[in-house]
Amino acid sequence: MGIDAVIQRLRTASDIAHLPWPDMVWQPSTGKPITLSRGTFVDLPLPPRQRVDLRTELRVPRSIGPVSLDQEPLYLTIDSIYPLQLLFQGRELIGRREPPVAPGPEETLVSPAISEGTNGELRLVYDVPQSQTWLNWLYFRFSTPALRRRADAIDLLLSRLALASELATTPAERSQVAESALLIPLDLELVDQEGLDELDRMVAQHLEGFADRLEKLSVHVIGHSHLDLSWLWTWPDTTRVIKRDVAGVLGLMDEYPELTFTQSQAVTFDVIERDSPELFQSVLHHITEGRWEVAAMQWVETDLNLPSGESLARSILYGVSHCRERLGVSPTVFLAPDAFGHSGNLPQLVTSAGAHVYYHERCNPGTSEPHTAYSWRGDDGTRILNVSTPRYWGQVTIKSIADAAIAALKQGLSSGLFFHGVGNHGGGPTREGLDRLRMMAGLKGFPKTACSTLARYASDVGDSELPEHVGELGSLFEGCYSTNREMKLRNRRAENALTSASTLAAVARLDQEAALRAAWKTLSLAQFHDTLCGSAIADVYDQVFEELDDATRSASEVIASAFVALTETAAAESIVVTNPLGWTRRDVVVVPGVTGSGPFSVIQDDGSVIPAQHSSEGLVFVAEVATFGCRQYTLGDRNVENRDITVVEDDDVIRVETEWYRAHLHRESGSLVSLRVGETGPELVRFGGRRPTDYIDSARLDLAINVLQVVDEAPHDMSAWHFDDVIGERYLIAGGSSQLIEVGPVRAIVRTIQRFGSSEIVRDIIFYQSLPRIDVTCTIDWRESGSREKGITNLKVSSTASLGRGAAWFESPFGACERAADGQEVVAQRWADVSDNNYGLAMLNDGIYGHDALGCRLRLTLLRSSYEPNDVGDVGQHVMKYSLCPHAGDWRQAGVPKLAAGFNQTLIAKAGVVCRADVSALRPTLGGDPNVLLTSLKRAEKESAWVARLQECEGRPATVYIESLRPAIRSVNRASIVEDPLGNVPIDLDGRARLSMRPWEVSTLLFNE
Ligand SMILES: [Zn+2]
Repeated sequence: MGIDAVIQRLRTASDIAHLPWPDMVWQPSTGKPITLSRGTFVDLPLPPRQRVDLRTELRVPRSIGPVSLDQEPLYLTIDSIYPLQLLFQGRELIGRREPPVAPGPEETLVSPAISEGTNGELRLVYDVPQSQTWLNWLYFRFSTPALRRRADAIDLLLSRLALASELATTPAERSQVAESALLIPLDLELVDQEGLDELDRMVAQHLEGFADRLEKLSVHVIGHSHLDLSWLWTWPDTTRVIKRDVAGVLGLMDEYPELTFTQSQAVTFDVIERDSPELFQSVLHHITEGRWEVAAMQWVETDLNLPSGESLARSILYGVSHCRERLGVSPTVFLAPDAFGHSGNLPQLVTSAGAHVYYHERCNPGTSEPHTAYSWRGDDGTRILNVSTPRYWGQVTIKSIADAAIAALKQGLSSGLFFHGVGNHGGGPTREGLDRLRMMAGLKGFPKTACSTLARYASDVGDSELPEHVGELGSLFEGCYSTNREMKLRNRRAENALTSASTLAAVARLDQEAALRAAWKTLSLAQFHDTLCGSAIADVYDQVFEELDDATRSASEVIASAFVALTETAAAESIVVTNPLGWTRRDVVVVPGVTGSGPFSVIQDDGSVIPAQHSSEGLVFVAEVATFGCRQYTLGDRNVENRDITVVEDDDVIRVETEWYRAHLHRESGSLVSLRVGETGPELVRFGGRRPTDYIDSARLDLAINVLQVVDEAPHDMSAWHFDDVIGERYLIAGGSSQLIEVGPVRAIVRTIQRFGSSEIVRDIIFYQSLPRIDVTCTIDWRESGSREKGITNLKVSSTASLGRGAAWFESPFGACERAADGQEVVAQRWADVSDNNYGLAMLNDGIYGHDALGCRLRLTLLRSSYEPNDVGDVGQHVMKYSLCPHAGDWRQAGVPKLAAGFNQTLIAKAGVVCRADVSALRPTLGGDPNVLLTSLKRAEKESAWVARLQECEGRPATVYIESLRPAIRSVNRASIVEDPLGNVPIDLDGRARLSMRPWEVSTLLFNE
């Protein structure tokens, strides 16, 4: 038998030895008996909102294999999310009436001495919650000290052979390992403890030549407890778990002075400080000692693809600030264990906040083997040391430690990394694991293993030659980018409102940061990875939606107070339009409360008259407003001559001509079967209209623009997470109807109504005379639920552009990336684009993240009916918007990033006010290269200063001038993302500050008053 086969045989023996207890049959009060087999209950009953009562006789065999159980103490470790009660002979062993929790560092002694035969009745009572029934999450592990000793002995044999095999390079060394493998008998399961110990002595002796090298290896063991703040439970439940776990770890630290612990998420420290001041003092003490590692560079562990760049900046700012102010440390470890993907500008953002090392589990870029450590180069060229393990939780076993050392060896490193902590809803290090670490410390010819911190591990591997990964780390659960539309829409609405509010407050020089900070933290909590990804239970969203609506309301109040500061009351016909973005823009604005009908006009502040149009939402016109500006308009005269958009209604199509494009809208489907850019531009739809052939005319409506599709995925587990095999695609190209519902000099709106099953999809397709966009507002009554039988139904909108060899680009947090146009679901922020060198089509959105591009077909996933852990999927009413932007040139030339920002942060208008002349507003402007966006302003956290965020948005170097700073601003500093000043940017005699930026650089500036 070869060495690999022996190692494999030992791995199987180890798996059995760690879960040795024989199958047990448990009887529910009603129904058929169920079996507990190798730690897992088979077909566990999970009736929602009911109590389940199971009983079994604890029958103990004389021995398990060669291990006698007589008079052994029996321990039980439970990993579960259900509130449960466990009784032995009527005595309560566990009485957890609190919310579902993992066992944490506890272990239950069932009996101090068991004996062969019946030992008494075990009774388990658990309450099944309404919607946590998706995972059979109830694991029981029975063990005794003798059984553990056996598992350890088998692990040790396995580890010695596996480690030596990894180190053996010469033929002599390899034959030495092979000879040692021959010592392992085929009937290992019959060898008793004494025999195993003797075998270990022999194997160790045989492999003595490797001992020196093995003892030079080290494994850093990180104590951790992964807290999913709201997932299959709600945030209030988790606050209790945080306190339980911190108390548990502190207790263990007293018992085991070597124990260290790494805690992430600043909000969890906040909970301890607020609710348990004594625990907090102990934590502070251990931080000072260096045993409690603060790895809380974010307020919470958010998703890292879905939040906007500014949301990530805020989460990092509030995380780092909290650590500095309340814990007295500046964290250097960015912990993102469970994030489902990592966007390309993160190295820059986290390094700017002081990170030296980035830890993650998912999306490791190693191909044949995951990298334990590697260098990650972000979009802008910033490098950071990334470290990674296959799991961010686990039990310390000899085998797991050896595997960590082997992973390091495979990469040529001398130190490995291992996370310990049981449970995946809190939990933490265990006595069993810590005892094992102590035992391993005395092992000869074995890697040095000790409790450590990620910072220590980073300094250990820092100088090694490491592989490099460039750009985003991709993603793993692509369905998440579409699951739970309402969560995504509310997230974006809050992001837009908070960014605009923060900026307009700064323009008005109002310090509203306290109110805004609270709202940003609420948003950050909602951006927790399971929550924003749509993979949490319904109870979570009931709370989160309310909280997000509150945050959006706070933002609206700040915007209103900025309006009060920037304007004063005037006659009703006076209108002020304000622009929350850092560039001059022409965009549509709706003035609420101005009623009337038909075409109209407004007079701009320079006396020119422009067209306007009454609508049910208010007065609509296209305003041009300077950077962060307020512009004055006055209601004009309805008799002014206005040229309506040309709309021609034919039988099959409605033809619309504007200054920017000519479109043919297919009445039955709302699809654009012809779309030409400008007067002379090419046809962007190749097969939409009927074309003559030798016999009958033919068309391919499915290959038009703005086509609704129903896409069916095969049934699969983790439906909220995974976008899986597509087994059907249907095109909603027949049976609908379209009607012109509004037309005037500003815009024309065609309403298309389509039905699918019991669902109704209403789309208002809005053509503007003088804007290069076609906006689409969808009002959908969605009735399609998914199930384990049917699978998942998605609603997509598809646009196929007739282009040459195109490229597909997607916006990412503070950046953009090109990806293969291979049809896979991917995430984008506010825009995605397919272009060749001459023309292209961009699709903008107001909270739709799931996209796919296949060649020059771009699709948005509007709705997705996953069925677990939340069984209603997207069933319900939804209103969402997207926009089609046909353009000349590529996305850069078309200014797509600016269009998308404008589509989200709209111009804001108010009637009955005029701009105040006496207000000393802050309105910095940007000159120089056009590829830098001045995205937002805020009040500085500490100094008497204002913060401006700049983003290079095209992947090219740039030089810009910040102008209009005087008289309010005295000096300008470059700053880190957490607002530490980094150096002065001189203001020249003309009052301008010059700044050079790298491709994709995000720059934070402090404007000192
Ligand atoms: Zn998680």
